[in-house]
Parts: sequence; structure tokens; C-alpha cells
Amino acid sequence: MMQFLRELIAVQGPLAIDRFMSLCLGHPKFGYYMNRDPLGVAGDFTTAPGISQIFGELIGIWCMATWEAIGAPSPFNLVELGPGRGTLMADVLRATSKMAEFSNAARVHLVETSPVLREAQRAKIPGQVTWHDSVESLPQEPMIFIANEFFDALPIRQFVKTSDGVFERHVVLRNNALALADLPAPFEVFGGDGLFEVSPISCAIAETLGAKLQALGGAGLVIDYGYLELASGDTLQAVKAHKPCGVLEYPGTSDLTAHVDFEALAKAFEAGGAEALPPKTQGQFLGEMGLQQRLTTLSAKLLGKERQDFIAGARRLVDDKQMGQLFKVLCVAQSSRQPIYPFEGQ
Ligand code: SAH
Repeated sequence: MMQFLRELIAVQGPLAIDRFMSLCLGHPKFGYYMNRDPLGVAGDFTTAPGISQIFGELIGIWCMATWEAIGAPSPFNLVELGPGRGTLMADVLRATSKMAEFSNAARVHLVETSPVLREAQRAKIPGQVTWHDSVESLPQEPMIFIANEFFDALPIRQFVKTSDGVFERHVVLRNNALALADLPAPFEVFGGDGLFEVSPISCAIAETLGAKLQALGGAGLVIDYGYLELASGDTLQAVKAHKPCGVLEYPGTSDLTAHVDFEALAKAFEAGGAEALPPKTQGQFLGEMGLQQRLTTLSAKLLGKERQDFIAGARRLVDDKQMGQLFKVLCVAQSSRQPIYPFEGQ
């Protein structure tokens, strides 16, 4: 990948950060997600579904309650964006299997670009599953969608505003090595000085989903690390084997992500026509969905170290110092429907 990028920049010139990210993550031959399973202890990072089964179970309960709030459409599409190893969807299906009307009505659709992870999902998720390369091809039917740590993997652009003008961050070649350079941007941006990030591809996906929800009915959850209001600051990060590394250090073999701008994402869903409800922190959301009760019930059946690990996993999802505050949950839905718990009404 390094050699490929050097040659590409030598021929085509500097790469904006979104182009760099999309090549590093999604290039058909060298892209990070194209030829590995990055999740879990042996991989590069761990996500909530791999930390505690309670995460997917509570999301399953949310899906059942929300399905009723949107009028119990039958059939409907149960959609996941970027399902990783399929753990979350498997937990959701197990938790919802007790409600026969829901299970009979649900058709599972997964949006996934990685061939390796599609295989992992096939092995993990029971029943019939349909895969999509993008949200565009999702059927024109009501849906409930879930996106956990999906939007953080989508490319961003970085703009730097100084008293000298506006610049866009690029990857260039310096002494035949990759380096960052801020090159003049052809337009003005609002706001004060600093570095700002935008993710046009995330907004385009949110707008498409928003339009589908509004036209066909449905709701969805976006769960990710990020900020609730546009803030300046560089959040592009690279991780390899659970340790941070330089973003230019291991292109194609390190994971690259950025924090999600929830305000921009909510506006994009609304531009599509759907309603975005005020977001909650992951700690609040899981707490209100009954994490403590579920933890008490399940941990009572365990002993010793197994019990301790189980409790520690669930705590990690909600503790303020761990994932509880940094992760946010955004609910979006068709605008006419019953209130959706726990985001509105009681
Ligand atoms: N939701 C999972 C995995 C998160 S990793 C979990 O919580 O464990 C990001 C996921 O998004 C992976 O499945 C990856 O292959 C997928 N992905 C990344 N970019 C994508 C894109 N542009 N389109 C569809 N899927 C993508």
C-alpha cells in the first residue's frame, strides 16, 4: 500500500484526507477492511458487541419497542450498517426471537463492503441475510436500522482556517515519504480559526437513509464516538494492535477513524426528510434500556472470575470514564409515529 500511495501521489499529486482514508480502508486490493478481520483481541480494536452480549440484547429490545411505535409494519427490513463480525445482529436476533410477530416480519439486510467480514457475518447470523454494498440498494420498504461504529470509519476532509486563509489538509510526498501538508482551499469557511472536519460521504448516506425513512416508514440508531456540536480539533486517528500509531505510519494495515459530528449527521438525516431526536450518551441510553436489571439477572447465574469479567464488560459500556460518555446514540425516524422510547415520551 505504501508503494502504491507513493506512486499515486507522484503521478496524481497530493491526496485530500478523504481520498487517503478511502484508499487506505477501502482499496479493493490493499485496503484495510478488504483483507482482514480487524476486530477482537487478536485484531486491532474491540467494539461494544464484543465486550458484552447485553449491548445487543438491549438494542434488540429497543428494536421490538420501536417496531411497535412505527405501527408494526410486516414485513419490514432489519438493517445493519457495517456489521463487523455479525455479533450485534446475532444478539439482536436472539433477544427478539421471543416475539414471534417481530421475528416473522423481520428481513435481515446488511450493508458491508468487506468480503472477509461478510464471511464472518454469514457464519454468525442465522437465517436468510441479504448483503448490500451501499444503502442505495436497500429495498423500498419500511426499516429499522442500526449503525454501531460505522460512521467513524467513513472518510473525512480536514480544513484549517488561519489568518492567512483557508487550507485543506492533504497527504503529499516529502523526500519520498508520506507527509501532511495544508494546501490552499478554494473557498471560505465560517467560524473562527482552527481545524474543522467534515464528512461529505457520511452526510450523503444519512440523507439517503433519512429520505427512505420518511417515504417508507421506520427508525434507526446511530451509535458512535463523537461530539454533539461542531468543535474544532483533529480527531483523525490510527490504531494497530490496540495501540495508537501515526496516521501515515501503516497505511492499509492500521485502522483509520475520526470522531462523528452528530450535529452534522442529524442535519443530514433531516435534509432527507426524517426527524432526528435529541441524542443521548451511550451510558444514559443503555441505563434507560435496563442495563442494570439485565446485568443483575445474568450475573446471578455466574460465579467467580466469569462473573467478575461479565460485570466488568457491562460496566465498560456505561462508565463515564470508559465508553459511557464518549459514545453517543442518535435516534432518527419518520416524523409521524408514536413516541420512541427512551428518546421521547414516557
Ligand atoms: N459494527 C461493528 C463493526 C464496526 S467496524 C461492531 O460494532 O463491531 C466498521 C464496519 O463497517 C466493518 O464491518 C467495515 O467492514 C464496515 N465498513 C467500513 N466502511 C464501509 C463502507 N464504506 N460501506 C459499508 N461498510 C463499511
